[in-house]
Amino acid sequence: MAGIYLHIPFCNKKCIYCGFYSVASKAFRDKYIPALEREISHRRDFFSSLYPSDRTVKTLYIGGGTPSVLSADVLGRAVSSIRDNFSFPSEAFRTDNPDIFEFTVEVNPDDITPGYAQALKELGANRISMGVQSFNDSHLEWMGRRHNSQQAEDAFKILRNAGFSNISLDLIFGFPMLSQEQWEENLDRIIELHPEHISAYQLGIDPDTPLERLAEKGRFRLPEEEVCEKMYKSLQAVLKGSGYTQYEVSNFCSPGFHSRHNSSYWSRIPYLGLGPGAHSFIGRHREWNYPGIETYCNPDTKEIREGENLSPEDVFNEILMLGLRTAEGVRMKDLRNSDPMSSVFISKIIPVIQDLEQKGLLAVTKDGRIKIPSGRLFVSDGIIRDLFV
Ligand code: SF4
Repeated sequence: MAGIYLHIPFCNKKCIYCGFYSVASKAFRDKYIPALEREISHRRDFFSSLYPSDRTVKTLYIGGGTPSVLSADVLGRAVSSIRDNFSFPSEAFRTDNPDIFEFTVEVNPDDITPGYAQALKELGANRISMGVQSFNDSHLEWMGRRHNSQQAEDAFKILRNAGFSNISLDLIFGFPMLSQEQWEENLDRIIELHPEHISAYQLGIDPDTPLERLAEKGRFRLPEEEVCEKMYKSLQAVLKGSGYTQYEVSNFCSPGFHSRHNSSYWSRIPYLGLGPGAHSFIGRHREWNYPGIETYCNPDTKEIREGENLSPEDVFNEILMLGLRTAEGVRMKDLRNSDPMSSVFISKIIPVIQDLEQKGLLAVTKDGRIKIPSGRLFVSDGIIRDLFV
């Protein structure tokens, strides 16, 4: 079982906080698909080299950047090339069942028209992830988003009318002009739409962003952690009260609608990332394509990526870091089996586990898992760091 991530590194406008690799220039849009086709064909044996018997791609995720700035025909060329070069379940691209095949496309609300939504459906997408971020228009403007709240609601309805029954919406919290009351209004508005999945991210200051430059000049400061924690707790409470299950620090879903693709990252299932800045993982190996659209699109470029083999410590820490952010937590068995060295690591962290358990920051379950209680997920990063070997 495997997944493919396809990066579309274009946005019509850069948002103030965004650290993802994308460019606002339109200069390389026509050269991008031929470059992607080259990479796809070079990488066609990525999964079969290590897993010849189980190389079926069960999830495809087109993210960015903003995939929806490209026409559905252009996206379709990339999808065709992927279909020609990798193995998929026989019902892929015509099923709505994410257990058989999940195909997500990220979109921006202002790109969604009935014709575009229909064309994504015809491409075989069965899940949409849309960046709403806020229902407050002045906050959206401050973020540098292209859409307003009305466009987000309209786009959601258009997607539903086109037959998408698996839609994820994103929100952002934890910025100074957002009051607790406004945050709760955002939560009410998102629930009224009844999306199957909600992701909510606390704003951070990423390197090389306009927000970082504002912060360096003293013109922006993140709110105090207690303010953000209160927002996070209300997020958990409101969504739980509306029937959503929290399955990861930032992710909530109606029963059965967790993201299979993102869950496979956390379970360390092999995935191939295509496009500049995309990451790949297989076995004990991680790779990352260099960001840089110009180099990527140049057919004479020799090297577009580098990689590393993970050390036993890296693998152990990764299992902890990825697994403890999920509601399921980590099976001690998986830590034990991660490497012959793992018993040494486990003996090192057992006293830390006991200490964290006593403080109520970690729970050890009867079926041999360790997990962070939901009331402590807000401080999960610190807890996980304490466990690293
Ligand atoms: S639209 Fe998304 S990817 Fe593009 S700049 Fe904004 S947050 Fe980043």
